[in-house]
Amino acid sequence: MIFSILIAIFAGWLLLRKNNESVVEKSAPIAVKKPLLEEVSSHGSSDYFFVKTLMRNTIVRHENNIPLTDYEICRVYKINNPELTKIVEKKKSDLNWSTWWRTDERILFHGSPHAKEIAETGFNVGFCSPHSMFGKGIYFTSLSSKANQYAWGNNRGCPTHKSRACCLCTRTMLICRCVMGKELRTVTPTTMVPPGYHSVVAVPTCADDSLFLKFPEFVVLDGSQVEPMFYIEYKILYMKQDENPVNITSRSTKATESKKCSIM
Ligand SMILES: [Zn+2]
Repeated sequence: MIFSILIAIFAGWLLLRKNNESVVEKSAPIAVKKPLLEEVSSHGSSDYFFVKTLMRNTIVRHENNIPLTDYEICRVYKINNPELTKIVEKKKSDLNWSTWWRTDERILFHGSPHAKEIAETGFNVGFCSPHSMFGKGIYFTSLSSKANQYAWGNNRGCPTHKSRACCLCTRTMLICRCVMGKELRTVTPTTMVPPGYHSVVAVPTCADDSLFLKFPEFVVLDGSQVEPMFYIEYKILYMKQDENPVNITSRSTKATESKKCSIM
């Protein structure tokens, strides 16, 4: 008799537990994992508007370079990488402690043919050359037109047409959140960053000397200081002498394309 009662209690407990589990399962929010690269709609998206405006508003004229006028933005992807966000936040917290909460953030551009890989995995300073102008680090700019010069590598042309001015091939760049830490401000190249600094800010001058920069550059010394926010695929539009801005992709014939889009 007692044995039967114990079995009944145990069976009741099991049933209750199962019901509770199913209630928990039903009431738990469904965690929808966002894709790593999430395409942003070009219609009414504030992210798309932000990217387009920031890119357009940061075009300047560069000496000995194509007179860029605008971009044809093909696709914008928002980068969702919670693990990397955590790493960058941890780094920011550490840098805040070491700089007495004087760690600024900057939203900066990085042009690279490897932008998609970087968007997926983050930056690795191990791949950077120690012989660059400001030593080993990850280089950024506040100007989209400057970042554009690195879309195929350092002032290289597109692989297909070997042209820096190619407006047929799709280019790539990133918009990143950079945690600067303690900034070393300089007007001249320096490959030796003193200990205690976490980034370099190269300040432009009006000096007519190739040693000095015409536009600002930003070098971050560690990949954990950077969170890529947007990955952008785009083409360039530029003014050719007295013509209207060239938009080759909207032209229909290849003959017209080759006439209007000169290969530098
Ligand atoms: Zn090309």
